[in-house]
Amino acid sequence: MAYDTNNIFARILRGEIPCKKVYEDEYTLAFHDISPQAPVHVLVIPKGAYVSMDDLAANGSDREIAALYRAVSKVAHDLGVAAEGYRFLVNCGVNGGQEVPHLHVHIFGGRRLGRMIQIA
Ligand code: 5GP
Repeated sequence: MAYDTNNIFARILRGEIPCKKVYEDEYTLAFHDISPQAPVHVLVIPKGAYVSMDDLAANGSDREIAALYRAVSKVAHDLGVAAEGYRFLVNCGVNGGQEVPHLHVHIFGGRRLGRMIQIA
């Protein structure tokens, strides 16, 4: 799938749409989800134009891939959910339920999440 430069997260990265930022570095941006599914629900996105985790794995640099993982861990610690545990999740493609075509890692925390967030 070709990258759509007008997707909502691309617009957030360009500053055209506001977000509640929690972290930013050279390669990543993290912000609160607009419709939280848990007491803590944050999205961590690469600054690069990657549609999905598959796209990043195939076309991203090792630095970008490492930065995304490190940002997830840092945000979980900074928001205070790491000690009690949290979940990170990436929806990929149609069957995965991905709605926004810019790679984003969900971080959920702040309560017992059960085995899965939702399958149906
Ligand atoms: P997906 O289903 O693609 O994995 O998740 C997309 C997520 O983006 C959803 O949890 C949704 O609430 C969130 N989202 C959609 N539009 C916006 C927005 O404009 N701002 C923020 N902060 N989150 C958004």
